[in-house]
Amino acid sequence: MRDHFEVRRGDAAGRIGRLSVPRAGVTVETPALMPVVNPNIRTIPPRELESEFGAEILITNSYIVHSTDDLRERAVEEGLHDLLGFDGAIVTDSGSFQLAEYGEIDVTTREILDFQHEIGSDVGTPIDIPTPPDVGRERAERELEQTEAALRDAEAADTGEMLVNAPVQGSTYPDLREAAAGRADATDLDVFPVGAVVPLMNSYRYAEMIDVVAAAKRGLGRDAPVHLFGAGHPMMFALAVAAGCDLFDSAAYAIYARDDRYLTVRGTEHLEDLEYFPCSCAVCAAHDPEELRGYGDEERERLLGEHNLHVSFAETRRVKQAIRSGNLLELVESRARSHPAMLDGYRALLDHADQLEREDPISKGSFFYLSEESARRPEVRRHHERVTRLNPEGEVLLTEGGIPSGDAYDAAWRVVPPFGPFPRALSETYPLTAEVPDRSDRRAQEAAAEGVRELVEANPGTEFVLAHDDWPASALARVPDRVAIETLGGGR
Ligand SMILES: [Zn+2]
Repeated sequence: MRDHFEVRRGDAAGRIGRLSVPRAGVTVETPALMPVVNPNIRTIPPRELESEFGAEILITNSYIVHSTDDLRERAVEEGLHDLLGFDGAIVTDSGSFQLAEYGEIDVTTREILDFQHEIGSDVGTPIDIPTPPDVGRERAERELEQTEAALRDAEAADTGEMLVNAPVQGSTYPDLREAAAGRADATDLDVFPVGAVVPLMNSYRYAEMIDVVAAAKRGLGRDAPVHLFGAGHPMMFALAVAAGCDLFDSAAYAIYARDDRYLTVRGTEHLEDLEYFPCSCAVCAAHDPEELRGYGDEERERLLGEHNLHVSFAETRRVKQAIRSGNLLELVESRARSHPAMLDGYRALLDHADQLEREDPISKGSFFYLSEESARRPEVRRHHERVTRLNPEGEVLLTEGGIPSGDAYDAAWRVVPPFGPFPRALSETYPLTAEVPDRSDRRAQEAAAEGVRELVEANPGTEFVLAHDDWPASALARVPDRVAIETLGGGR
């Protein structure tokens, strides 16, 4: 049991949690966004990240500090918190990125962890190997062994109160990711970054990113805080949180600002293409795009960086509120409509609906049916499982509307796509309180037919009549043959 992370509320696989960071003496509420601070280039001073943006935690690179003489001396002398001017929790990366980029670095995991500890890091990182996507399996396995050797070194190191990351690698092989996560979970390390997903995000391969996260989550316990390493675009926060990620780091706010790119929750805009700012943060309220274009490079970069951070923190808060309100998947659905690749990501998430279903709360505020994808939500799956435990007897009418013929039935149950049949007494229980459109779609009707099938197969001694409202053949084909079918008037 990891007692430094406590899950307070959940929705799908997303959760609001509390990460205790003992060395910093702070508790960070997750999902949390960690701005990346380059110790050499500070677009926005860390003190402002805290005071203006409410950042509770940030991440910086201990390898850059270690390999820059004056930074190293000052970090050893003053400590990292004074060097950066930040009182919250500081996570340090190890130089894995530099290793992947340049092929070698001049420290070992033991040395860099000792150094991170010495300069006062609150969450340290061993030197893992960020294996990129699509490599041969042999390489992925070989590099995973190196990463796991680094985790063993990290376990053996004396790191005091400093929490230590246990990165999960395995490239685009779900089985490797799952096994790696299982082994990382078995260590006494503390935080679990899912590594090397940046190339997937940069090429809009959100579906594969979700598959990688889902695989890692299968190997990790519920008490394992998960960091999606390198994920900094607010467009995908809701999706990644719904898949079970707790921590994000944004270098994007600064990197994008440097190239005049403006982040939104629906994607990225170029400053030169904007006539209006679709945002009401302090920067966008006080300037228009034309004005901003007229500023010098440094001022423009700082203002764009501030906007990018505002929009990122606002989305983090929106995601947290959605978890509290129980409508995180509705938020994911709306974000999924901003780009076809995001829609792929959402569909991939629903491919793991059984996995989500295990963590999704049984009762939430509301369920809005917003698209055909809603028919595949975990709540629908759960209802279909639950319906098999109900045992109506005699002759039972399942109806979308009224009672179609003069016959008397032993019971008349409602049928609501996408859930399917349920006794009227359950009408007021979640998720059957769902708001669904009057114009049902084929996917919802097919899902409802699956519900009918589950109920009928679980009750071989009961007779069923289904009165449907204009279901397509693809839905009716899922209804067992022994069910008598009646058609309601339609009239829509
Ligand atoms: Zn703005």
